[in-house]
Amino acid sequence: MADRKRASWGSGELYDLLCLMMLGCCVWLLGVQLGAFRWLDALIIGHQLSDLFMLGFFMGLGAFVASVSKSVRLRRAIRERDTAEAQASEAARHDPLTGLSNRRRFIESLEARRRSRSAAAGGSRLSVFLIDLDRFKPVNELYGREAGNAVLCAVGERLERALPSGSSLARLDGDEFIALVETGSDGEALARIAQGLIAAVSAPVSWQGHEIKVGATVGIADAGREAGSADAVLHAADLAMGQGKRDGRGTYRVFETAMDERLKARARLETDLRVAIDQGQIEPFYQPVVALPGQAVTGFEVLARWRHPERGLLAPAVFIPVAEETGMIGDLSTLILRRACLDARDWPNHLQLAVNIAPQQFQEVGLAERITAILTETGFPAERLEVEITETAIVQDMEATRATLTKLQSLGVRVALDDFGTGYSSLYHLRELRFDKLKIDRSYVNSIAQGDDRAKLVDAIIKLGNSLGLVTTAEGIECETSLDWLSNQGCDYGQGYLFGRPMPKAEVERQFSEGLLRPSVPAVKAA
Ligand code: C2E
Ligand code: MG
Ligand code: MG
Repeated sequence: MADRKRASWGSGELYDLLCLMMLGCCVWLLGVQLGAFRWLDALIIGHQLSDLFMLGFFMGLGAFVASVSKSVRLRRAIRERDTAEAQASEAARHDPLTGLSNRRRFIESLEARRRSRSAAAGGSRLSVFLIDLDRFKPVNELYGREAGNAVLCAVGERLERALPSGSSLARLDGDEFIALVETGSDGEALARIAQGLIAAVSAPVSWQGHEIKVGATVGIADAGREAGSADAVLHAADLAMGQGKRDGRGTYRVFETAMDERLKARARLETDLRVAIDQGQIEPFYQPVVALPGQAVTGFEVLARWRHPERGLLAPAVFIPVAEETGMIGDLSTLILRRACLDARDWPNHLQLAVNIAPQQFQEVGLAERITAILTETGFPAERLEVEITETAIVQDMEATRATLTKLQSLGVRVALDDFGTGYSSLYHLRELRFDKLKIDRSYVNSIAQGDDRAKLVDAIIKLGNSLGLVTTAEGIECETSLDWLSNQGCDYGQGYLFGRPMPKAEVERQFSEGLLRPSVPAVKAA
């Protein structure tokens, strides 16, 4: 269309044509006046005819010059257009920052390589290496985008050098690079190349006097024809890389079909969990907490269980992390707390209920109000509720955690620091926030019976609690030896399979009615 337009005469070009023909006319007139065409009279019979012949000649000459100039201009325009098109197509296939190929060009080279290989593939193997930078985000945040760009360019150059000759390298999005590599058939070649790439990226990059360090995690996938479409190959490498990230970064993983299955299973779990929360398939189980040394039940810890229609009863380790990552934990906790309050409000009224609150929930606005609303709605007294939090919540947002805890404590809710000894075990956290209870993690309690040195730490935690005016609960008591030792050290409460496993409401009530659980008023220490 554009070419046709360019090939026809435009108004400017018609003007040129007329001007040149007029110029021809003028030359003819001048020639007639000067008698320059007399020599033609001998050739063409008749004076008039020779003048007319020359008029035609000069006007034709003007038209000819006009058309030659048009064709020259047309050729130049076509050449410029072709150059611009070639430049645009190159730009569309390259990453402007590093000058490397981009995703589009990489896919084209992958397909081209597959086509050219089919005849002479021999024992060689075509693989893609997806290289994702570790700790790149903080570089942008700490030093700014310019530093980030410098790191990406340096990484691009180093990767090019570290790859075997004949490989193609491209930058995908952000801090992701991808390489197409042909190796021999031995499996170790992949590991060698991946380690080389990681080492190349991990060396510090000097930028304006700073030594900036990033790392790399590499996902490797087969890129031969049998591996499916280019998109499928990239997806497989991405899954392998994701596995590497989960396994601790700075490493490489080769794609296995199981990774895809795990991811699909995880997606299914997410969908099922949403339905489970909506349909109330998540239910509270209750594990007794006893006072030491008498072992009278003073309350229960509420532990979530999923009564899955096909998979049976699922433990929290299967679904709580998913609920936390997907943001469903708020709804799940509301469901559990409401049901637990309804279950326990008719139990002897000195029995405490301890509920776990996930760190992510402290980031939600209105957590304290939500808990208060459930207490009001169910008629469960705030003084009988204890919330268990872990130090992760404090680390993530100390001020939000403090605000929520203060509101809850002002209502009479008690606060326990759960799993003490596993995470940060920070005195700073104990000083900054006002807790009512320390729960010693079961990994320490387990070790008591084995005479492990960690028993000394349990003793230290109990004494620390005492000196700060906090009561202590030991989790995971499974044998009499641990029970006796903890009682002697002055631990206030105990929880563990020795006293009872987490059980459904009906079982708690059966055990009460048969006198298997001995409730008594807890001996709460003055804080
Ligand atoms: P946790 O809060 O530290 O709960 C104690 C865990 O120790 C429970 O595991 C309990 O069954 C287990 N346990 C108690 N006594 C013994 C024992 O003598 N031996 C052994 N081996 N284990 C014992 P569970 O129920 O699997 O819960 C695991 C974690 O899941 C809990 O640790 C808690 O962090 C989380 N969780 C459970 N329910 C909820 C919930 O409703 N909301 C939130 N946010 N987290 C929950
Ligand atoms: Mg707990
Ligand atoms: Mg715990």
